[in-house]
Amino acid sequence: MKPVLIAAALIAAAQVAGTANAADLRPDQAAFRAIYKELIETNTAFSNGSCTIAAEKMAARLKAAGYKDADIRLFSVPEHPREGGLVAVLPGTDPKAKAILLLSHLDVVEAKRADWTRDPFIMVEEDGYFYGRGASDDKAHAAIFTDTMVRMKSARPLRRTLKLALTCGEEGGNGDVFNGAEWLVKNHKDWIDAEFAMNEGSVGIRGKDGKPVSLGIQAGEKIYQDFRIEATNPGGHSSRPRPDNAIYSLSAALTRIGQYEFPVLLSDTTRAYFTETARLTGGEAGAAMLRIVANPKDSDANAIVSRDPTYHSMLRTTCVATMLDGGHAPNALAQRAGANINCRMFPGDPIENVRAQLLKAAADPGVTIVPTGEISPTPPPPPLTPLVYGTAKAVAAKHFPGVPMLPAMTTGATDGRFLNAGGIPTYGVPGRFSDPDGNGVHGLNERKSVAGLYAERDYLFDLITAYANAKDSK
Ligand SMILES: [Zn+2]
Repeated sequence: MKPVLIAAALIAAAQVAGTANAADLRPDQAAFRAIYKELIETNTAFSNGSCTIAAEKMAARLKAAGYKDADIRLFSVPEHPREGGLVAVLPGTDPKAKAILLLSHLDVVEAKRADWTRDPFIMVEEDGYFYGRGASDDKAHAAIFTDTMVRMKSARPLRRTLKLALTCGEEGGNGDVFNGAEWLVKNHKDWIDAEFAMNEGSVGIRGKDGKPVSLGIQAGEKIYQDFRIEATNPGGHSSRPRPDNAIYSLSAALTRIGQYEFPVLLSDTTRAYFTETARLTGGEAGAAMLRIVANPKDSDANAIVSRDPTYHSMLRTTCVATMLDGGHAPNALAQRAGANINCRMFPGDPIENVRAQLLKAAADPGVTIVPTGEISPTPPPPPLTPLVYGTAKAVAAKHFPGVPMLPAMTTGATDGRFLNAGGIPTYGVPGRFSDPDGNGVHGLNERKSVAGLYAERDYLFDLITAYANAKDSK
């Protein structure tokens, strides 16, 4: 090949791989990249980082863009000085229109330098990926949303008010964690009140060839709840066993609970999810999905779809024994035996209903089953309105033509659980795609596609603009 052709081929290859040089960026992309880099390079892990510092840095960026002190609230509580956050407001032109909230957590899962190939708190751009802790979860959203607030400040005014909340504590931590989203809902809901919130929690799928297969929009998540099951007994000397026994009672009850299958539950989200997935999947599984949407009591269809553990979990509340304890001495009849049962409740499935089914499955009036830890509210899933879902699909048709959008209920949890319970419907926004290996989220060498991040940002900017100027049609 002639040198010119080689150069052209290299450029073409670079474009395919998405390795845009920093020099090739549009000015607005370069400004965004600086925010993203600053966030990744500010350690916000629970053990030794500071969300408060990250929030202060984002506040400085907003002020540089023209926000007044009155538009920005930095918050923290004295017991958790490193776990602060911020709320910022850009007022809309229509005082009667409800706001849109952009929510992202600042904190990240712990990352040890010795375990990573590169320093987790230095942003490295390499082979078409940004590397760094939080590159995907969730500093990409934090950067996109902060950058959106910066750009909107000098853009044409929006009809609705735009709010930004950057919070700490979503990832938990080894100790007493302050959750900023929960705190805001409980103490200052007026700061963040909105018609709906845009949040993390949805992942589109990228095929092995790098091409997007489907977009995701998350509407509703399963609710975490632990229960304690316990059997007690007068006990005695183990040389003289009695017919009743705490360990045997418990294990028999647990076996029956293990065999119990919770009934199929459907929401707008999962109906739409299985309908769309049936089209993509086809075959026996696809046909079974359509049958179960039409009739949740179709047990043959249920058996086929539920072979996949994720689909099984999306179709119902699930409960599983996760920890076990019992007895007090090797030579004594146990006076007490217990287990933790971890449930993931379908949104809107009341906790009392779940407990009643566990008790019925246990089928032993001698065992007790009680919820433990914080009692989780089980709000219904946020509705897939034409405003939220229809607009997301319409804007996606321009940015990701031909890529279907799948509404999904996630089987794990985000901060959306606090907002949904507090009356702010919260959605995991579309626009991101996960590689088949999950991109190291929560694990080693977390990474995010460079081209994917810029495409996601362009999509979300147009989507937020469309939401903020939309009429109030539900
Ligand atoms: Zn996250």
